[in-house]
Amino acid sequence: MSNATEETPELSVIIPVFNEGDNLRALVARLIPALACVKSFEIIFVDDGSSDNTLDVARELNAADPRITALSFSRNFGKEIAIAAGVDAARGRGAVIMDADLQHPPEAIALFVEKWREGYQNIFGVRQSRDTDSPARKWLTRYFYRLFRTFGEIGLPEGAGDFRLLDRVALDALKTLREQARFSKGLYAWIGFRSVGVPFDVAERHAGESKFSYRKLTRFALDGLVSFTTVPLKIWTYIGMAVAAFALANALYYVLETLILGVSAPGFATLVVSITFFAGVQLISLGVLGEYIGRVFAEVKGRPLYLVQERIGRRIGAANLDAGPAAKAEKAKF
Ligand code: UDP
Ligand code: MG
Repeated sequence: MSNATEETPELSVIIPVFNEGDNLRALVARLIPALACVKSFEIIFVDDGSSDNTLDVARELNAADPRITALSFSRNFGKEIAIAAGVDAARGRGAVIMDADLQHPPEAIALFVEKWREGYQNIFGVRQSRDTDSPARKWLTRYFYRLFRTFGEIGLPEGAGDFRLLDRVALDALKTLREQARFSKGLYAWIGFRSVGVPFDVAERHAGESKFSYRKLTRFALDGLVSFTTVPLKIWTYIGMAVAAFALANALYYVLETLILGVSAPGFATLVVSITFFAGVQLISLGVLGEYIGRVFAEVKGRPLYLVQERIGRRIGAANLDAGPAAKAEKAKF
Protein backbone atom coordinates (compact mmCIF):
# COMPACT_ATOMS: atom_id res chain seq x y z
CA MET A 1 0.00 0.00 0.00
CA SER A 2 3.01 2.29 -0.38
CA ASN A 3 2.17 3.95 -3.62
CA ALA A 4 -1.43 4.60 -4.65
CA THR A 5 -0.72 4.83 -8.37
CA GLU A 6 1.17 1.57 -8.27
CA GLU A 7 -1.74 -0.05 -6.45
CA THR A 8 -4.29 1.15 -8.99
CA PRO A 9 -3.10 0.79 -12.56
CA GLU A 10 -5.02 2.82 -15.07
CA LEU A 11 -5.78 -0.21 -17.22
CA SER A 12 -5.93 -3.94 -16.56
CA VAL A 13 -5.63 -6.32 -19.49
CA ILE A 14 -7.48 -9.57 -18.92
CA ILE A 15 -6.42 -12.47 -21.11
CA PRO A 16 -7.97 -15.94 -20.77
CA VAL A 17 -5.42 -18.54 -21.84
CA PHE A 18 -5.84 -22.22 -22.48
CA ASN A 19 -2.78 -24.01 -23.86
CA GLU A 20 -1.35 -20.83 -25.39
CA GLY A 21 2.31 -21.36 -24.41
CA ASP A 22 3.43 -20.61 -27.96
CA ASN A 23 1.57 -17.32 -28.09
CA LEU A 24 2.26 -15.51 -24.82
CA ARG A 25 5.69 -14.09 -25.63
CA ALA A 26 4.66 -12.83 -29.05
CA LEU A 27 1.52 -11.36 -27.50
CA VAL A 28 3.38 -9.53 -24.73
CA ALA A 29 5.94 -8.22 -27.22
CA ARG A 30 3.16 -6.52 -29.16
CA LEU A 31 0.94 -5.68 -26.22
CA ILE A 32 3.39 -3.66 -24.11
CA PRO A 33 4.21 -1.10 -26.82
CA ALA A 34 0.48 -0.88 -27.59
CA LEU A 35 -0.16 -0.01 -23.93
CA ALA A 36 1.94 3.14 -24.18
CA CYS A 37 -1.40 4.94 -24.54
CA VAL A 38 -2.13 4.56 -20.82
CA LYS A 39 -0.25 5.81 -17.75
CA SER A 40 0.06 2.42 -16.06
CA PHE A 41 -1.23 -1.07 -16.65
CA GLU A 42 -1.28 -4.63 -15.41
CA ILE A 43 -1.64 -7.74 -17.52
CA ILE A 44 -3.59 -10.62 -16.03
CA PHE A 45 -3.34 -14.02 -17.65
CA VAL A 46 -6.09 -16.32 -16.49
CA ASP A 47 -4.76 -19.79 -17.11
CA ASP A 48 -7.80 -21.94 -17.69
CA GLY A 49 -6.23 -25.26 -16.66
CA SER A 50 -3.67 -25.46 -19.47
CA SER A 51 -1.75 -28.70 -19.86
CA ASP A 52 1.14 -27.19 -21.84
CA ASN A 53 3.86 -24.77 -20.67
CA THR A 54 1.53 -21.73 -20.53
CA LEU A 55 1.98 -21.26 -16.79
CA ASP A 56 5.78 -21.59 -16.96
CA VAL A 57 5.91 -18.94 -19.66
CA ALA A 58 3.66 -16.71 -17.54
CA ARG A 59 6.01 -17.20 -14.59
CA GLU A 60 9.02 -16.17 -16.72
CA LEU A 61 7.19 -13.15 -18.06
CA ASN A 62 6.28 -12.13 -14.50
CA ALA A 63 9.90 -12.46 -13.38
CA ALA A 64 10.97 -10.15 -16.21
CA ASP A 65 8.14 -7.66 -15.75
CA PRO A 66 6.09 -7.63 -12.53
CA ARG A 67 3.25 -5.83 -14.30
CA ILE A 68 2.52 -9.21 -15.86
CA THR A 69 0.59 -11.38 -13.45
CA ALA A 70 -1.32 -14.61 -13.72
CA LEU A 71 -3.72 -16.82 -11.88
CA SER A 72 -4.33 -20.40 -12.76
CA PHE A 73 -7.46 -22.48 -12.34
CA SER A 74 -7.45 -25.94 -10.80
CA ARG A 75 -8.88 -27.28 -14.08
CA ASN A 76 -10.42 -26.08 -17.35
CA PHE A 77 -13.50 -24.01 -16.46
CA GLY A 78 -14.04 -22.45 -19.89
CA LYS A 79 -13.26 -19.07 -21.39
CA GLU A 80 -16.37 -17.36 -20.03
CA ILE A 81 -15.48 -18.24 -16.45
CA ALA A 82 -11.84 -17.29 -17.05
CA ILE A 83 -13.03 -13.82 -18.09
CA ALA A 84 -15.09 -13.60 -14.89
CA ALA A 85 -12.01 -14.45 -12.81
CA GLY A 86 -10.02 -11.80 -14.68
CA VAL A 87 -12.70 -9.22 -13.96
CA ASP A 88 -12.65 -10.21 -10.26
CA ALA A 89 -8.87 -9.84 -10.15
CA ALA A 90 -8.56 -6.62 -12.16
CA ARG A 91 -7.61 -3.54 -10.15
CA GLY A 92 -7.51 -1.03 -12.97
CA ARG A 93 -9.81 1.92 -13.47
CA GLY A 94 -10.77 0.09 -16.61
CA ALA A 95 -10.00 -3.26 -18.18
CA VAL A 96 -9.47 -4.62 -21.65
CA ILE A 97 -10.53 -8.20 -22.32
CA MET A 98 -8.77 -9.93 -25.20
CA ASP A 99 -7.79 -13.32 -26.65
CA ALA A 100 -4.25 -14.62 -26.32
CA ASP A 101 -3.81 -15.75 -29.91
CA LEU A 102 -3.26 -12.26 -31.41
CA GLN A 103 -6.55 -12.46 -33.29
CA HIS A 104 -7.42 -9.33 -31.34
CA PRO A 105 -4.83 -6.75 -32.48
CA PRO A 106 -3.29 -5.01 -29.41
CA GLU A 107 -2.96 -1.81 -31.46
CA ALA A 108 -6.74 -1.42 -31.35
CA ILE A 109 -6.54 -0.79 -27.60
CA ALA A 110 -5.40 2.78 -28.27
CA LEU A 111 -8.66 3.38 -30.15
CA PHE A 112 -10.65 1.90 -27.24
CA VAL A 113 -8.81 4.14 -24.78
CA GLU A 114 -9.63 7.18 -26.92
CA LYS A 115 -13.35 6.37 -26.64
CA TRP A 116 -12.92 5.69 -22.93
CA ARG A 117 -11.48 9.16 -22.42
CA GLU A 118 -14.46 10.56 -24.30
CA GLY A 119 -16.62 9.11 -21.53
CA TYR A 120 -17.76 5.77 -22.92
CA GLN A 121 -17.83 2.93 -20.40
CA ASN A 122 -18.50 -0.17 -22.48
CA ILE A 123 -16.36 -0.01 -25.61
CA PHE A 124 -16.55 -3.08 -27.79
CA GLY A 125 -14.50 -4.16 -30.77
CA VAL A 126 -16.62 -4.94 -33.81
CA ARG A 127 -15.06 -7.51 -36.11
CA GLN A 128 -15.21 -6.47 -39.71
CA SER A 129 -15.38 -9.98 -41.14
CA ARG A 130 -15.45 -13.59 -40.13
CA ASP A 131 -13.05 -14.71 -42.86
CA THR A 132 -10.78 -16.37 -40.32
CA ASP A 133 -13.59 -18.74 -39.27
CA SER A 134 -14.40 -21.96 -41.13
CA PRO A 135 -17.38 -21.71 -43.53
CA ALA A 136 -19.47 -24.06 -41.36
CA ARG A 137 -18.77 -21.99 -38.24
CA LYS A 138 -19.58 -18.78 -40.10
CA TRP A 139 -22.91 -20.23 -41.22
CA LEU A 140 -23.82 -21.55 -37.77
CA THR A 141 -22.83 -18.24 -36.14
CA ARG A 142 -25.04 -16.34 -38.55
CA TYR A 143 -28.07 -18.49 -37.73
CA PHE A 144 -27.36 -18.34 -34.02
CA TYR A 145 -27.41 -14.54 -34.11
CA ARG A 146 -30.57 -14.53 -36.21
CA LEU A 147 -32.24 -16.78 -33.63
CA PHE A 148 -30.95 -14.68 -30.76
CA ARG A 149 -32.17 -11.47 -32.35
CA THR A 150 -35.65 -12.93 -32.85
CA PHE A 151 -36.11 -14.45 -29.40
CA GLY A 152 -33.44 -13.01 -27.09
CA GLU A 153 -34.50 -10.52 -24.45
CA ILE A 154 -31.56 -8.23 -25.18
CA GLY A 155 -30.06 -6.94 -28.41
CA LEU A 156 -26.59 -8.19 -29.35
CA PRO A 157 -24.64 -5.76 -31.51
CA GLU A 158 -23.54 -7.45 -34.74
CA GLY A 159 -19.90 -8.59 -34.73
CA ALA A 160 -19.29 -7.60 -31.09
CA GLY A 161 -17.33 -10.10 -29.04
CA ASP A 162 -15.14 -10.30 -26.00
CA PHE A 163 -12.51 -7.87 -27.28
CA ARG A 164 -13.51 -4.72 -25.40
CA LEU A 165 -12.68 -2.10 -22.79
CA LEU A 166 -14.88 -1.82 -19.72
CA ASP A 167 -14.80 1.11 -17.33
CA ARG A 168 -14.65 0.42 -13.58
CA VAL A 169 -18.43 0.96 -13.24
CA ALA A 170 -19.10 -1.69 -15.89
CA LEU A 171 -16.57 -4.06 -14.31
CA ASP A 172 -18.22 -3.69 -10.90
CA ALA A 173 -21.63 -4.31 -12.48
CA LEU A 174 -20.28 -7.42 -14.20
CA LYS A 175 -18.90 -8.67 -10.89
CA THR A 176 -22.38 -8.80 -9.41
CA LEU A 177 -23.52 -11.28 -12.08
CA ARG A 178 -22.40 -14.62 -10.67
CA GLU A 179 -24.30 -16.97 -12.95
CA GLN A 180 -22.68 -20.29 -13.79
CA ALA A 181 -23.91 -20.63 -17.37
CA ARG A 182 -22.15 -17.53 -18.60
CA PHE A 183 -22.72 -15.99 -21.98
CA SER A 184 -20.44 -12.98 -21.65
CA LYS A 185 -21.60 -11.28 -24.85
CA GLY A 186 -25.11 -11.27 -23.41
CA LEU A 187 -23.89 -10.04 -20.02
CA TYR A 188 -21.99 -7.10 -21.53
CA ALA A 189 -25.11 -6.08 -23.40
CA TRP A 190 -27.28 -6.65 -20.33
CA ILE A 191 -25.28 -4.31 -18.06
CA GLY A 192 -25.61 -1.50 -20.57
CA PHE A 193 -23.79 1.79 -19.69
CA ARG A 194 -22.56 4.21 -22.31
CA SER A 195 -21.60 1.80 -25.09
CA VAL A 196 -19.88 2.26 -28.41
CA GLY A 197 -18.45 -0.05 -31.07
CA VAL A 198 -14.97 0.31 -32.57
CA PRO A 199 -14.28 -1.64 -35.78
CA PHE A 200 -11.22 -3.88 -35.98
CA ASP A 201 -9.92 -6.58 -38.31
CA VAL A 202 -9.64 -10.07 -36.88
CA ALA A 203 -6.22 -11.55 -37.62
CA GLU A 204 -5.32 -15.18 -38.13
CA ARG A 205 -4.41 -17.15 -35.02
CA HIS A 206 -0.68 -16.68 -34.20
CA ALA A 207 0.06 -20.31 -33.19
CA GLY A 208 -1.93 -23.40 -32.41
CA GLU A 209 -5.56 -24.13 -33.18
CA SER A 210 -8.89 -22.79 -31.99
CA LYS A 211 -9.74 -24.14 -28.56
CA PHE A 212 -13.42 -24.23 -29.44
CA SER A 213 -14.66 -27.53 -30.80
CA TYR A 214 -18.11 -27.65 -32.36
CA ARG A 215 -19.27 -29.39 -29.20
CA LYS A 216 -18.03 -26.51 -27.02
CA LEU A 217 -19.59 -23.99 -29.40
CA THR A 218 -22.96 -25.78 -29.31
CA ARG A 219 -22.91 -25.76 -25.50
CA PHE A 220 -22.03 -22.07 -25.60
CA ALA A 221 -24.82 -21.24 -28.06
CA LEU A 222 -27.34 -23.12 -25.91
CA ASP A 223 -26.10 -21.28 -22.79
CA GLY A 224 -26.58 -18.01 -24.63
CA LEU A 225 -30.09 -18.76 -25.80
CA VAL A 226 -31.27 -20.35 -22.58
CA SER A 227 -29.88 -17.58 -20.35
CA PHE A 228 -31.47 -14.80 -22.33
CA THR A 229 -34.83 -16.11 -23.50
CA THR A 230 -37.65 -18.21 -22.09
CA VAL A 231 -39.40 -18.45 -25.47
CA PRO A 232 -38.43 -22.14 -25.98
CA LEU A 233 -40.07 -22.87 -22.65
CA LYS A 234 -43.28 -21.04 -23.44
CA ILE A 235 -43.63 -22.03 -27.08
CA TRP A 236 -44.77 -25.52 -26.07
CA THR A 237 -48.06 -24.17 -24.76
CA TYR A 238 -48.86 -22.89 -28.24
CA ILE A 239 -47.55 -25.98 -30.01
CA GLY A 240 -49.61 -28.09 -27.60
CA MET A 241 -52.75 -26.05 -28.29
CA ALA A 242 -52.22 -26.33 -32.04
CA VAL A 243 -51.68 -30.07 -31.81
CA ALA A 244 -54.75 -30.53 -29.60
CA ALA A 245 -56.88 -28.45 -31.99
CA PHE A 246 -55.64 -30.56 -34.88
CA ALA A 247 -56.44 -33.77 -32.97
CA LEU A 248 -59.97 -32.53 -32.17
CA ALA A 249 -60.65 -31.60 -35.79
CA ASN A 250 -59.36 -34.99 -36.80
CA ALA A 251 -61.62 -36.73 -34.31
CA LEU A 252 -64.60 -34.79 -35.61
CA TYR A 253 -63.73 -35.79 -39.15
CA TYR A 254 -63.56 -39.48 -38.20
CA VAL A 255 -66.90 -39.32 -36.38
CA LEU A 256 -68.55 -37.74 -39.39
CA GLU A 257 -66.87 -40.19 -41.76
CA THR A 258 -68.09 -43.15 -39.67
CA LEU A 259 -71.62 -41.75 -39.51
CA ILE A 260 -71.81 -41.15 -43.24
CA LEU A 261 -69.71 -43.97 -44.76
CA GLY A 262 -69.80 -46.61 -42.01
CA VAL A 263 -66.91 -48.24 -40.15
CA SER A 264 -63.66 -48.69 -42.06
CA ALA A 265 -60.82 -50.90 -40.87
CA PRO A 266 -57.66 -49.34 -42.39
CA GLY A 267 -55.71 -46.56 -40.71
CA PHE A 268 -52.89 -48.53 -39.17
CA ALA A 269 -50.13 -46.49 -40.86
CA THR A 270 -51.72 -43.19 -39.85
CA LEU A 271 -51.85 -44.38 -36.26
CA VAL A 272 -48.21 -45.46 -36.08
CA VAL A 273 -47.00 -42.27 -37.74
CA SER A 274 -49.00 -39.98 -35.50
CA ILE A 275 -48.03 -41.81 -32.31
CA THR A 276 -44.31 -41.69 -33.06
CA PHE A 277 -44.51 -38.10 -34.27
CA PHE A 278 -46.21 -36.85 -31.15
CA ALA A 279 -43.96 -38.94 -28.92
CA GLY A 280 -41.10 -37.07 -30.59
CA VAL A 281 -42.77 -33.71 -29.98
CA GLN A 282 -43.20 -34.58 -26.31
CA LEU A 283 -39.58 -35.65 -25.93
CA ILE A 284 -38.38 -32.40 -27.49
CA SER A 285 -40.48 -30.38 -25.06
CA LEU A 286 -39.14 -32.44 -22.17
CA GLY A 287 -35.62 -31.81 -23.46
CA VAL A 288 -36.27 -28.07 -23.47
CA LEU A 289 -37.51 -28.25 -19.89
CA GLY A 290 -34.37 -30.22 -19.06
CA GLU A 291 -32.15 -27.50 -20.51
CA TYR A 292 -33.67 -24.94 -18.15
CA ILE A 293 -33.96 -27.19 -15.12
CA GLY A 294 -30.34 -28.31 -15.55
CA ARG A 295 -29.27 -24.68 -15.42
CA VAL A 296 -31.50 -23.94 -12.45
CA PHE A 297 -29.87 -26.91 -10.73
CA ALA A 298 -26.37 -25.64 -11.52
CA GLU A 299 -27.27 -22.22 -10.06
CA VAL A 300 -28.96 -23.42 -6.86
CA LYS A 301 -25.96 -25.53 -5.92
CA GLY A 302 -24.28 -22.18 -5.38
CA ARG A 303 -20.79 -23.43 -6.12
CA PRO A 304 -18.05 -20.86 -6.64
CA LEU A 305 -17.54 -20.00 -10.30
CA TYR A 306 -13.95 -21.21 -10.29
CA LEU A 307 -11.16 -22.50 -8.08
CA VAL A 308 -7.74 -20.91 -8.17
CA GLN A 309 -4.69 -23.11 -7.88
CA GLU A 310 -1.93 -20.56 -8.09
CA ARG A 311 -1.45 -16.82 -8.25
CA ILE A 312 1.62 -15.36 -9.90
CA GLY A 313 2.49 -11.76 -9.09
CA ARG A 314 1.45 -9.28 -6.42
CA ARG A 315 -1.37 -10.89 -4.40
CA ILE A 316 -3.37 -10.68 -7.54
CA GLY A 317 -7.10 -10.45 -7.11
CA ALA A 318 -7.02 -10.96 -3.36
CA ALA A 319 -8.36 -7.48 -2.63
CA ASN A 320 -11.00 -7.53 -5.28
CA LEU A 321 -13.06 -10.56 -4.40
CA ASP A 322 -15.79 -8.88 -2.46
CA ALA A 323 -18.39 -8.50 -5.18
CA GLY A 324 -21.14 -10.82 -4.03
CA PRO A 325 -21.89 -13.73 -1.72
CA ALA A 326 -20.35 -16.23 -4.14
CA ALA A 327 -17.24 -14.10 -4.45
CA LYS A 328 -17.02 -13.93 -0.66
CA ALA A 329 -17.11 -17.71 -0.46
CA GLU A 330 -14.38 -17.77 -3.06
CA LYS A 331 -12.31 -15.34 -0.97
CA ALA A 332 -12.79 -17.36 2.19
CA LYS A 333 -11.28 -20.36 0.48
CA PHE A 334 -8.00 -18.69 -0.35
N1 UDP B 1 -9.78 -20.14 -24.01
C1 UDP B 1 -9.90 -20.38 -22.64
N2 UDP B 1 -10.53 -21.51 -22.22
C2 UDP B 1 -11.08 -22.42 -23.09
C3 UDP B 1 -10.98 -22.15 -24.48
C4 UDP B 1 -10.33 -20.99 -24.90
O1 UDP B 1 -9.42 -19.60 -21.82
O2 UDP B 1 -11.64 -23.43 -22.64
C5 UDP B 1 -9.09 -18.92 -24.47
C6 UDP B 1 -8.00 -19.15 -25.50
O3 UDP B 1 -6.78 -19.47 -24.91
C7 UDP B 1 -7.96 -17.82 -26.23
C8 UDP B 1 -9.41 -17.36 -26.17
O4 UDP B 1 -10.02 -18.10 -25.12
O5 UDP B 1 -7.15 -16.88 -25.56
C9 UDP B 1 -10.12 -17.58 -27.48
O6 UDP B 1 -9.99 -18.94 -27.85
P1 UDP B 1 -9.78 -19.41 -29.35
O7 UDP B 1 -8.81 -18.52 -30.05
O8 UDP B 1 -9.45 -20.86 -29.30
O9 UDP B 1 -11.25 -19.21 -29.91
P2 UDP B 1 -11.70 -18.67 -31.34
O10 UDP B 1 -10.77 -17.58 -31.75
O11 UDP B 1 -11.66 -19.85 -32.25
O12 UDP B 1 -13.09 -18.19 -31.08
MG1 MG C 1 -8.83 -17.34 -31.57
